[in-house]
Amino acid sequence: MRITIVGCGVVGATIAYELSKISDLEITVVDAQPTPVQADLTEYPNATGAALGVLMGAISKKEKGRNLRMRLAGIQYYNETVSELEELTGRSIPFNRQGILMLQFSDDLEVWHRLVEVRRKQDLALEVWNQERLKLEFPFLDRAVAAIYSPSDRQINPVALTQALIEGAKLRGVNFQFGTKVIGRQNQQIQTSQGVIESDYVVISAGVGTSGIEKIDIRPVLGQAIHVRLPKPLSDKPLPVITGDDVHIVTLGNSEYWVGATVEFPTEAGEVLPPDRAMFDEVMRQAIKFCPALKGAEIVRSWFGLRPRPQGRPAPVIEEIEPNVLLATGHYRNGVLLAPATAAEVQEKIIKKL
Ligand SMILES: Cc1cc2nc3c(=O)[nH]c(=O)nc-3n(C[C@H](O)[C@H](O)[C@H](O)COP(=O)(O)OP(=O)(O)OC[C@H]3O[C@@H](n4cnc5c(N)ncnc54)[C@H](O)[C@@H]3O)c2cc1C
Repeated sequence: MRITIVGCGVVGATIAYELSKISDLEITVVDAQPTPVQADLTEYPNATGAALGVLMGAISKKEKGRNLRMRLAGIQYYNETVSELEELTGRSIPFNRQGILMLQFSDDLEVWHRLVEVRRKQDLALEVWNQERLKLEFPFLDRAVAAIYSPSDRQINPVALTQALIEGAKLRGVNFQFGTKVIGRQNQQIQTSQGVIESDYVVISAGVGTSGIEKIDIRPVLGQAIHVRLPKPLSDKPLPVITGDDVHIVTLGNSEYWVGATVEFPTEAGEVLPPDRAMFDEVMRQAIKFCPALKGAEIVRSWFGLRPRPQGRPAPVIEEIEPNVLLATGHYRNGVLLAPATAAEVQEKIIKKL
């Protein structure tokens, strides 16, 4: 069976890698960009390059349901697959297994105590730390009156991950065509800037680009983030992701950190506005409030990218819109986390056709 995957961000790359494990599939991945996702840009042409790779499973407030199952499946997948991918490709994928620490600025913790109970029944650890515990563990943090610690949550470098998925899929026979923009589709025939591709099954995982190909409204929601360097590390201990008021601090090693991200909506008509300086400053202000050592940090780079948000429906969209044409898109703020469960769903649908 000939399968064409349109779009090679983390979603398309994970689908390609997982499908490459099935024999008798002839897989082609096309992407409009001239190269796979790149590190160290300032303006990303895809969401994946811009992502912080924070994987919020147990610490998400969702108590049950499909979205929570997808989140937890994502974390389990990375726990098992990162070393498999590293061995296969010889690449290293920075993967933080220290969990996520969510700072609390009010002492109304009832909802968290309840969630701890829910998670306990799901065999997932979640801890409520009081201020003394927090000060003892991480004395460089300020202002928080308590914290929620989720040891099973993770963070992964999205660019290193996606590049390794592509490399792994290539080694297993997947054909990648970069610099190939999809212009239209008729059934399973895809028109591209480089000619027509005939296939038996089409997966569209083109993020915000999906709306240019199919009748679905995926809106771009801009996110800015920053890479900073400090004179010395915040701590001698390995750090979890630290998050407060929806602002994340991600440890990179060598006294370097990512801080982000803003959430900037487009206009009613769907037009993307330029990155908002005031919103960016506000993210930094928030981060400095709970982590004062960030004040005066050296700025290595700041960047932005566009998250694909499905308009008027929950993220993500995984749906056959015609026989043998599947959308796997609209992952909005959690595409890195949800890519593995998305790939599993796509794989299941395709296996049924074999
Ligand atoms: C600042 C920021 C921080 C984020 N942080 C996190 C986080 O901590 N955790 C998390 O899980 N998620 C995070 N996200 C969200 C995450 O980045 C996205 O949900 C995810 O990357 C979506 O992946 P994707 O593969 O669907 O889309 P993309 O990465 O956008 O990839 C789509 C690809 O399709 C290609 N394409 C588009 N149109 C066409 C066409 N017509 N023809 C051919 N190719 C086409 C594009 O070139 C692109 O490479 C963040 C996003 C941003 C912007």
